[in-house]
This record gives sequence, C-alpha cells and structure tokens, in this order.
Amino acid sequence: MIFLDAAATTPVRREVLEAMWPYLTGEFGNPSSHHTLGEAAANALADARATVARALACRPGEVTFTSGGTEADNLAVKGISLARQAADPRHNRVVISAIEHPAVEESARYLERFHGFAVDVVPVDRYGQVTPEALAEVLRPDTALVSVMYANNEIGTIQPVAALAAVAHLHGIPFHTDAVQAAGWLSLDTKALGVDALSISGHKLGAPKGNGALYLRSRTRIEPLVHGGGQERGRRSGTENVAGAVALAKALTMVSVDEQGRSAAEPLAGRVAGLRDQFIRSVLDLVPGAILTGHPGERLPSIASFCFPGTSGESVLLELERQGVVCSSGSACAAGSDAASPVLLAVGIEAEVAQTAVRFSFDSTVDAAELEEAAAAVGAAVGNVRSLSGR
Ligand code: PLP
Repeated sequence: MIFLDAAATTPVRREVLEAMWPYLTGEFGNPSSHHTLGEAAANALADARATVARALACRPGEVTFTSGGTEADNLAVKGISLARQAADPRHNRVVISAIEHPAVEESARYLERFHGFAVDVVPVDRYGQVTPEALAEVLRPDTALVSVMYANNEIGTIQPVAALAAVAHLHGIPFHTDAVQAAGWLSLDTKALGVDALSISGHKLGAPKGNGALYLRSRTRIEPLVHGGGQERGRRSGTENVAGAVALAKALTMVSVDEQGRSAAEPLAGRVAGLRDQFIRSVLDLVPGAILTGHPGERLPSIASFCFPGTSGESVLLELERQGVVCSSGSACAAGSDAASPVLLAVGIEAEVAQTAVRFSFDSTVDAAELEEAAAAVGAAVGNVRSLSGR
C-alpha cells in the first residue's frame, strides 16, 4: 500500500514510542502526587514542556498541553474571545478566514450562538490566501480575536501569518493561528511569526492521537474551558497526559524546522517539496483537465491537491485504493460527506468541480519511486472513472 494521507494522521515513530513508554509503565505517576513517582512524572512533564517551548521559541510557561489540535483551537478561539468580552463587553466579534478547519470555525459559531458574538469571515483569494488588506477591511474596534490558519489542510496553502498578525496588532487585536498542518514543515518560531496563540497536534507529527499544545503569549488573558484541579496553570484542568506530552516533545524535536526552513534532522522540507512538484507535474501530464488547487508555490511541501472534472472524488478514491494508493477527498473530517468542501468553494471552485477533489499528502518518508507509481495509478483511476461514467 502507498499511504498518501499523512495530513489525516501519521504512524507513531519508533523513537517516540520508546520515549513515552516509561511513562505508560514503570514511571506511571500522577504529576500532582507528592511522592517519588509523582515527582518523576512532574519532571518528565516539565522537560517535555521545555522541549516544546524550544521548538516554538517561547517560554515553557507559555505552553499548555491539550488533548489535540481541536482542543487547542477551541481553547484559543473561545478562551481568548471570552476573556476579552469579560474585560470589555464591547469586544464581541471574532474574525476567522473562509477556509478554517472546523475546530476554529465551529468554535467561532459557538461564540455566536451562545455568547452574543458576531463572526466576520475574511475572504481568501483564488489560491486560498488571506491578504493583509482583506484582513484590515474586516477588523473593527470591537473585534476580540483574529484566527487565521498557518497552512490549510485541504489545499496546503500557506498564509502570510507574520503580516496578518501585524495587521491585527495594529488594531490592538490578539492573533491566533492553527499550525496543525504547518508543524513539521514550516518554522514554528512564535516570536518571528508574532502570534499570540498557536495550536499544534501530535498525531500529524509521528506522536499518537490525542495530544497537542497551545502556545499562549504570556499575559494574554484566557478563560479556561475545562474546569477542575487547576492543572496547566489553571488553563486546562485534568490530570496531564504525561506520556502524550513526552511523545509530542520527542516528535517535535525530530521534525523541528528553523527560521531558514532547515529541519533539525535533515533538509526535509526542500526534499519533499521537490518530490511534490514532480508528482504535481506527472499528475497534470497524465490526467487531461486536472486542476491543481491551492497556491502553486506558497504551499506545504506535504500536500498536492487536485480536482478531476468528470469524476466524483469518492469514486477516484475507491479506484485508487483498489490499485493500492490510499489518499483522501479533502479533510478527514469531511470524508464520506457529499457536500462540496467549503474550502474549495471559498477559493471560487464550482460545487460540481469541488466534488471531484482528491488530496495526496506525504510524510517525511515519501520517496520518488512510490510517487511515480502513485501518479500512474491516478492517471489510470481517473481514466477508469471517466470511462465508466461515459465522460
Ligand atoms: N486543524 C487542522 C488544520 C487540522 O488539519 C486538524 C486535523 O486534521 C485539526 C485542526 C484537528 O487536530 P486533532 O485531530 O489533533 O484534533
């Protein structure tokens, strides 16, 4: 099987499993316990926090461990907006982009339904980018928070996050970015990005599902969503997932990317981007009428996304799986749904064409030979689906 669905999830790396194993077995203490086992767990958690902080170029106290990207997004969007509203009831609008993951979009809609917020959606251009000018147009004195993702999970487009954060700050508004897909490929230097909050998720990076983190710039007020024993500096109660935090830290050290786009482990992003471009060229050559979605250059090394007019994305997926290639029609959350992807509609693709979308996403182990094989399979699969439907 050729697995080209790494944006949905990745297998746990052996080194990550080895790093977390002790905290699932012998060192199983609760970090809040005042005995040796508890202290060992608390130390492991502190080390993991320091490691994550290094990857995010921030202080350990600015890292909150969560149950994943969804929770980190919820905490940022709801928590910061509610804290700003509590401080000043006039702050009752949130700005999100038109292509956010549901974890951000639905958090904003929750604020609208239950807390009297208005949601302002900033449009994207045909490549899926938010321009600083478009963002400036929707900001208002009563905007509590701006949330624009770092890189999109369906089309891979990278946003000019530093420029967007600067626009929000000009108006005194905090800026959150969902970096779940960007992590491992782009620099997560929160200071260079200038963001106030940033979400990451472990299972996209070779850690298990169910762990993530939120960077929150110190002195940013936040209302917790989970109340209880006051763990994570009161921002997220509940006994900490020590093994999960250790796993996230280990996974991040294996994929961290510096300011120049250099990976700690290898020149990863450049190599994979080269393979992605070759794959894109092959697919466009082999499939008449194929459309590349997203930005041609400003895109994640790991995502190649297309529409294949005259097919249905789901039939192409089935056909590809029969040929041993596993990929996705868009986001894993929307897989199996018949509705056209809101992301593709937002970049101006017609609903009928949007239903023909297929996303291929890679991890660091991808190689040229398997992508060549996959491209040939795509050519054959689309040809088969088109001839079956008589187009
Ligand atoms: N944000 C983006 C951009 C994602 O791609 C995902 C997962 O697909 C999430 C958030 C949710 O992360 P998690 O699966 O850890 O809850």
